[in-house]
Amino acid sequence: MTIIKGTEKIVNPLQESALNKKGLCDYVVNVASGCLHGCTFCYVPSTPAIRTKQAQLREKGVSNPQMDWGQYLFVREDIPEKLEKVLSRKKSWRETDAGRGVVLLCSGTDPYQNKQTATVTRSAVQVLLKYNKRVRILTRGLLWVNDIDVLKCDNVIVGMSLPYLDDDLSRKIEPQSPPPTERYKALQEGHQAGCRLYVAMAPTPPTMTLDHFKRYLEKLMRINPEVIFWEPINARGTNGKRMLAAGLEFTSSIMSKQSWAETFKRQWEDIEAAAKDIGCLERLHIWPDPELRGYVDEAKLDKWLYTPTVEKWDYLTATQTKAKATQATRKNSKRTTASIR
Ligand code: SF4
Repeated sequence: MTIIKGTEKIVNPLQESALNKKGLCDYVVNVASGCLHGCTFCYVPSTPAIRTKQAQLREKGVSNPQMDWGQYLFVREDIPEKLEKVLSRKKSWRETDAGRGVVLLCSGTDPYQNKQTATVTRSAVQVLLKYNKRVRILTRGLLWVNDIDVLKCDNVIVGMSLPYLDDDLSRKIEPQSPPPTERYKALQEGHQAGCRLYVAMAPTPPTMTLDHFKRYLEKLMRINPEVIFWEPINARGTNGKRMLAAGLEFTSSIMSKQSWAETFKRQWEDIEAAAKDIGCLERLHIWPDPELRGYVDEAKLDKWLYTPTVEKWDYLTATQTKAKATQATRKNSKRTTASIR
């Protein structure tokens, strides 16, 4: 497999995002175009982020930007510098109930897929923290553990995509990303270091059952994630074709909208039952798909759209504000005491 690598420039690195509907963020920063993890189910190549720049990517040597997903990477090395400029001028900040003003790295690539993206990510996070912004990391990569010194912070939450803990299954579905057991070890390291953590148990293949969910959630709770997001694999679009090309037999069972919706419903019931059994139902956050309308109970679907997570952002912010106020009061009283003397 030939990998095409390079760099690219971007005008504005900070994009407003609609991912508040999933309780994730209000902004995204994507440190690259393309992703070397090339997960077979990844829907990014079907989104406008790639569809609208196919001609540009072809000029750079990528012959089929959708089907060749995982074989090209163009890193945006100037993001930290551009972010600094944008934030130094920015007067307003979007903060929706479900997005909470959080900046997600990344929605269309992996921030810690290799050393080059890790370097950009580290610097971008430092710039965001300098401007007191909330940051959410979402990765399948392991290199974030090298940045724990920066990421261990009330304004940062680190999450890993970890749909299952089965390394053999992972090699078929996401062969270029680190095995799940390695990802779990990275989370353990973050937990021991005191990082705020979450897990995206996504996307789960249709072969997973109630029993898998129970075993898996039980293990996940040992790293004390603030929230566990869940969604099943969606095989519609070019990701369905890539999954078939990768020889994933279960793909044909979820390629029609009806069969996908039925699988979604079954796994939704199973994951909730498993979470109830393990005692982590309050941390489970379903990522609903508006396409399910007509297939599942409307109220159940609407409950999860634009719903804030149970993450501790507000509590931590309130604690920070209180600590700052206490500090200021102490300083003032010292000044008063000094002036009386
Ligand atoms: S790591 Fe994320 S962005 Fe990269 S290929 Fe996998 S799902 Fe897509």
